[in-house]
Amino acid sequence: MSNSLIERYQTVQQRIQAACLQADRSDKSVSLLAVSKTKPIKDIQQLAEYGQLCFGENYLQESLLKIERCPALEWHFIGPIQSNKTKAIAEHFQWVHSIDRLKIAQRLSQQRPDHFPPLNILLEVNISREPSKAGFHPDVLLEIAPEIAKLPNLTLRGLMAIPQKLDGDTTLDAQRQPFAKVRQLLEQLNQTHGWSLDTLSMGMSADLEAAIIEGATIVRIGTDIFGKR
Ligand SMILES: *Cc1c(COP(=O)(O)O)cnc(C)c1O
Repeated sequence: MSNSLIERYQTVQQRIQAACLQADRSDKSVSLLAVSKTKPIKDIQQLAEYGQLCFGENYLQESLLKIERCPALEWHFIGPIQSNKTKAIAEHFQWVHSIDRLKIAQRLSQQRPDHFPPLNILLEVNISREPSKAGFHPDVLLEIAPEIAKLPNLTLRGLMAIPQKLDGDTTLDAQRQPFAKVRQLLEQLNQTHGWSLDTLSMGMSADLEAAIIEGATIVRIGTDIFGKR
């Protein structure tokens, strides 16, 4: 069993390399975030020994235990954020991918300890404009991003998206469309404001190739590394 974790991890690394080759990108331009939610610390430690240093978590209580045990790793919060969770997130994580309200960004900035480096943040975009889904609608995001960029203890790095689940048409071309829109939105922000946001967090187990072809710089992979949840 223990070998199969590393084997699955290697397979994901090979998929990333193949997609980079296809997209004519350096494989150093894409980093792999191992999404370890619900998975045991021993799996995290085994991957860390193998060289994986960045992990993504969705559930605060669970993640704090893991961070306490593995403080040298780089931790990314990628789940929904309630206001009462911002303090612990600001104190324990290096990155937050799931900012979907101005108020959450303001609280994270206020609560980031002064002696810490700025928290790296991504704005989550509801790129498929699903009514019940988290994330800023693209037009709201364009309006609010400058306010968030001004907050002192945060560094706005880019965008994160989870496209609508495709039923039926799961071809590469269909998967690419929403990711292309996210990339265009990042380009628009950079052009409008003269920024150089450099991060697109997009692509999961089922669609990492499409995301890389459209410019993902972080892919967030859970199932295909750790197995089913
Ligand atoms: C769980 C999760 C992932 C990983 O998804 P898999 O399909 O298991 O690879 C990625 N991003 C977010 C935001 C998640 O919640």
